[in-house]
Parts: sequence; C-alpha cells; structure tokens
Amino acid sequence: MFELTGKTALITGGSRGIGKDIALKFADMGANIAFVHYGDGDNAVVTEKELSEKGIKVKAYECNVADFEASAKLVEEVIEEFGEVHILVNNAGITRDKLMLSMTEAEYDSVMAVNLKGVFNMTKAVYKHFMKKRRGRIINMSSIVGLTGNAGQSNYSASKAGIIGMTKSVAKELGSRNVTVNAIAPGFIKTEMTDAMTDKAKEAALQAIPMKRMGQVEDIANLAAFLASDEASYITGEVIRVDGGMAM
Ligand code: NAP
Repeated sequence: MFELTGKTALITGGSRGIGKDIALKFADMGANIAFVHYGDGDNAVVTEKELSEKGIKVKAYECNVADFEASAKLVEEVIEEFGEVHILVNNAGITRDKLMLSMTEAEYDSVMAVNLKGVFNMTKAVYKHFMKKRRGRIINMSSIVGLTGNAGQSNYSASKAGIIGMTKSVAKELGSRNVTVNAIAPGFIKTEMTDAMTDKAKEAALQAIPMKRMGQVEDIANLAAFLASDEASYITGEVIRVDGGMAM
C-alpha cells in the first residue's frame, strides 16, 4: 500500500466522479485533502463529510479553474490553511460535444478554458511553491481522445491533447527541481460525464474496448495513488492510458 501520510493533495474537480475517488484514495493513504469544485455545492458538502470521517484534514474550495486570478488566490489560501501543497491533481473537466459543423465558438472556448487553461492556471499557481520546496507531484487528467481524436469532440480532444504537451513541457522545466509531472489518459469510465452519453454512443464505445467493459473510478484512482507516491519518484513526463486497451 502506497503512503501519503503528512502530505497535502490539492485536487480540482474533487466533488464527484474520478476526482472524488482520487480524494478518497489519497485520504486512505493518509493525505490531507483540499479539493476544488465549481457550481454544485451539494456534492461538495457530501464529499467533504465523507473525507473528514477518514480522520484527515479536509477543506472544500469553490473556484472556477478557468479563472487565472481566482486559481492563484485559491492556491495561496490552501497553502495558508495547510502549510504546504505536495501534490496537485488537475482533474476538473467538462464536455460540450458536437460535430464541428454545429459547434459554437462558445462551446469551443468553454471547454478549452476549463480543461486546458485550467491546468495552466493551477500549475502556474503552484509552480514557484514547488520550485522553492524542491519537490512536488503534478498529475494531469488527459483522456485517450487526446491521443486518438474523436468525432464530436474536437474541442474536448484538443484540450486533452494540449494537456499532454503541457505535461511534458512542465516535466522538462521542473525535473531538476525534483517535481514530477505526469498525465493519466482514461478511456471510458463510469461517471456522470459518461452517464450523459446516448445509449448508442455507449454501445459503440463498449465495442471498441478489448476488455468489453467500462472502467471504474477506482481504476484511475489506483494509478493516481501510485504516481503520487514515493515509489513513482523517477517517473515524469509520462502519459499512461487506463482504458481496457481501447486506444492501443
Ligand atoms: P464529472 O463527473 O463530470 O466531474 C467533473 C468535476 O469537475 C466535478 O467535480 C466538477 O465540479 C468539476 N468542475 C467542472 N468544471 C469546473 C470548473 N470550471 N472549475 C472547477 N471545477 C470544475 O467528470 P469525470 O468523469 O469524473 O471526469 C474527471 C476528469 O477525467 C475530467 O477531466 C475528464 O475530462 C477526464 N476523463 C473522464 C473520462 C470518463 O470516462 N469519465 C474519460 C477520460 C477523461 P462540480 O461538481 O462543482 O460541478
């Protein structure tokens, strides 16, 4: 079992879905948790309670990761409250799926703002802190569609491909400071995001998965746990698929 005792993890999109499961897993490993949500306060309250029952320090923060100033202020507040951030998980993400033919500029802009600029905003906000401490872990949530593309997701897949480029660039910038930066590329994972897909789209996705089943949030959290642990200290700039073989 990997250990995170005494560490603080800052997880965006931690109120539900994959981010919530990463928060629960990290808490089981002993980490204190600061998580970010935006919009849905009810989920955040439930998640904060579940995490606090694990006997760790936890605080939910409402912040739009697409907002540069707000992200910088958020990280300052978390450092003030927790003393230090050791692990940043850039997990918040949205979809606005449509064929490019009918996709609006607003649908393109909103996905890029949250999914890609959000990663820039949060990473920039912890960058100096990690440099000064000469340690840190950054785990970015990409997607296999950032590797393969997907009809109806030109905005989303561009944002997820962008995350891969950003992951490798920051890994090169911060490697000498003992900061690792890696990306996880999930396939088709059961959350509210995939619940919103049509039955036809779900069936097509299942057909494309060699393992013939959807992934569970735990499948992603298990990899995040490893990447955050001391055991992964020499792994950086990687993009690791967790997809039942879907994008091989
Ligand atoms: P989800 O269930 O829809 O949860 C999204 C999370 O992001 C929520 O906590 C939400 O907060 C938060 N969020 C959304 N917009 C935000 C913003 N502007 N600022 C801060 N937080 C924001 O999504 P998921 O399925 O768990 O996906 C998590 C990540 O994995 C995403 O980056 C997604 O693209 C990626 N991914 C998922 C799959 C999959 O199959 N599910 C596959 C590949 C990649 P609120 O609750 O407050 O709205």
